[in-house]
Amino acid sequence: MKKISLLVALVTLLAACNDRAKRNDSAGLDAGIERRIDSVMAGMTLEEKVGQMAQFTLDVIGKGGSLYFSDEPFEIDAAMLDTVIGKYKVGSILNTANNRARTTEVWEKTIRVIQERALAETGIPVLYGIDSNHGTTYTAGGTFFPQAIGMAATFNTHLMEEGSRVTAYETRASNIPWTFSPTMDLGRDARWSRQWESYGEDVYLNARMAVASVKGFQGTDRNHVGNRYIAACVKHYMGYGVPVSGKDRTPAIISESELREKYFEPFRASIVEGGALSLMVNSGIINGVSTHADYRLLTEWLKEDLDFDGVIVTDWADVQNLRSRDRISTDYKGAVKAAINAGIDLVMEPYNLAFCPTLVDLVEEGEVPMDRINDAVRRVLRLKFRLGLFDNPYWSRADYPEFGSQAHEAIAKTAAGESITLLKNEGNVLPLPMNARILVTGPNAHSMRTLNGGWSYSWQGEKTEEFAQDYNTIHEALQNKFGTVNVQYEPGVTYKMDGQYYEENPPEIEKAVAAAAGVDYIVLCVGENSYCETPGNLDELALSQNQIALALALQKTGKPMILVLNEGRPRLIRTIEPGAKAVVQLYLPGNYGGDALADILAGVVNPSGKLPYTYPKYEQSLITYDHKPSQNIDGKMEGAYDYGAQTSVQYPFGFGLSYTTFEYANLVVNQKDFVSGDLITVSVDVTNSGTIAGKEAVLLFSSDLVASLSPDVRRLRAFEKITLDPGETKTVVLQLAADDLTFVNEKGAWMLEEGEFMLQVGDQTININSTETRVWETPNK
Ligand code: BGC
Repeated sequence: MKKISLLVALVTLLAACNDRAKRNDSAGLDAGIERRIDSVMAGMTLEEKVGQMAQFTLDVIGKGGSLYFSDEPFEIDAAMLDTVIGKYKVGSILNTANNRARTTEVWEKTIRVIQERALAETGIPVLYGIDSNHGTTYTAGGTFFPQAIGMAATFNTHLMEEGSRVTAYETRASNIPWTFSPTMDLGRDARWSRQWESYGEDVYLNARMAVASVKGFQGTDRNHVGNRYIAACVKHYMGYGVPVSGKDRTPAIISESELREKYFEPFRASIVEGGALSLMVNSGIINGVSTHADYRLLTEWLKEDLDFDGVIVTDWADVQNLRSRDRISTDYKGAVKAAINAGIDLVMEPYNLAFCPTLVDLVEEGEVPMDRINDAVRRVLRLKFRLGLFDNPYWSRADYPEFGSQAHEAIAKTAAGESITLLKNEGNVLPLPMNARILVTGPNAHSMRTLNGGWSYSWQGEKTEEFAQDYNTIHEALQNKFGTVNVQYEPGVTYKMDGQYYEENPPEIEKAVAAAAGVDYIVLCVGENSYCETPGNLDELALSQNQIALALALQKTGKPMILVLNEGRPRLIRTIEPGAKAVVQLYLPGNYGGDALADILAGVVNPSGKLPYTYPKYEQSLITYDHKPSQNIDGKMEGAYDYGAQTSVQYPFGFGLSYTTFEYANLVVNQKDFVSGDLITVSVDVTNSGTIAGKEAVLLFSSDLVASLSPDVRRLRAFEKITLDPGETKTVVLQLAADDLTFVNEKGAWMLEEGEFMLQVGDQTININSTETRVWETPNK
């Protein structure tokens, strides 16, 4: 008996060791792959190596006689392929052609032609990359999820991982093994046009969602990604989301401590915990240094400090931009030299074929060391091996029967439902009775384009109606749910669909007001038309004047108004919010957003989203929840000169209502005193005290009460989303690492300080106490 159990123990131990060995192998470098790279590189010329560092956009090799556009139907131009792959030995292609989605069949045919030419020329497959940002952006018929800001609002990392897994599968079904996702720029400035591409303003939420997304994309073995998964590209490294002017691709000023403590963290986590295989660089300038030429951030922080073994790719044309936009070089050659020597491995040109001969010259002149080229090429080849492209450079679309399946659709619809955030529900006006007569109005009421936002079938999302006819707008979904007779549509305000995102047609407010006469409720759908990147820059954060006028006119009718927000960033609603009975934030929920909203308005789904950012109230009062104490002083100064310094917000970070109520009790910790290295267990009882089932994201915040650098007032440290039946209580156990209660001091070092911290979950608080002061000597904890 004893012998048997000894044997079992031994076998278990061996299996565990084996397992560990496997995990270690798959986490770091794979010796077999490295050997194969050695043998490929041994036979490569300098021109071939430089070609592996170049990436061009698909239109360059499309028939049509122009680098920028291609003829339709799209076909590869054999002569251009001769130039790009034959002459310059280019190793990577990106993007779609003519800025429009393609069918999986077109993708299969296109990529097969490219790969056959590449293999015949160099024996090295091409690495094809694309923005699959909330699903298969550029593949018709793919499954579209909420944009990242909505995924963040779900506070559900499991859904995030599932969504990315579906996107990986469907991107593979398009013969593409690499996406430029996820985006973990902290969306800390409501004015920025890409706030919705991130997971909102918080460091921890961005890090958790990004890690989940990377895992969903890449699967469990980063050295053998497999034919159901793709490589992730974490972007945009880093500090892209806080341009001083609020305008895209303009300079940011970020303190040294914030840079490491906040902006770096989601990238660190995605690389160290998620195993991200590639990374894209921020187009902007941080503290005066163009990130694409920043040796410290690219080589030291990533490749040296983190041992990052993946590919660092530029953003679109950003090497040229070092010269033409940032003006840090008089010529293109200087820009290439600066970027490559800073640590760039792959250059997204995307049109300038001069890149290859320019870099060859720089190497021959000794301006770029051969070691640097070898490092870059090794990384690019490593990614190709990890993706299995040498053994399987293209594949059949028929191997992916689940593309656009109902199972995938169900995950996207659940995600849309969990993202929607109920911000106000006066007198429990929601859910609506099923026999309600409803006017659905506003410029976002009947548009698939606005539900999806940018990166949908085209860059700016303007082609969405052409591709998304099979899905329901809000108007259609409400008709399906509440009946065609009871749901009327009169927009009152419409966007100019062939204009800039902010342009609107002459309003017809009186028509909407007249239509309101015969209904019980008004569902007013306002927000923004689709946009993305620099074309999405804005001058005023308030909702458009027409939309505000429409809301105020409809409010005068006295009919209860449900204000639905469908927007990429929080446009100010201060003047119309008081007159709305309910406010529902949709963000950019994707193709199932209309259906998900209808389910929520009808009470079929109980809302559970929470705001992943602070919703501002005033243009000049932009603030994040993790601000410094001086940014929002509750009390007043003592003495004759008694002033306060409050910053009002519309809704705080983490806010979101439910149709049921949750009560928190018994917040306890397993230890009140702690030192560095401790893992503190925090538990709390959460009860559904209402009458229907609901989901609740349980958030744990910490506040460092006193620190030698003015501390943030609160920081999110852990969260978990749970489901509770009416009357049910669950004890939620959250782990808090003592080392997470650190900050980065003014010298750039991580530091834990002695003293008290307050923990808060729901309305429960408890204080814990650090008995140790420690300063880290290594750059990362
Ligand atoms: C964007 C990136 C994107 C790239 C390739 C750039 O303009 O900033 O987010 O991945 O284009 O499409």
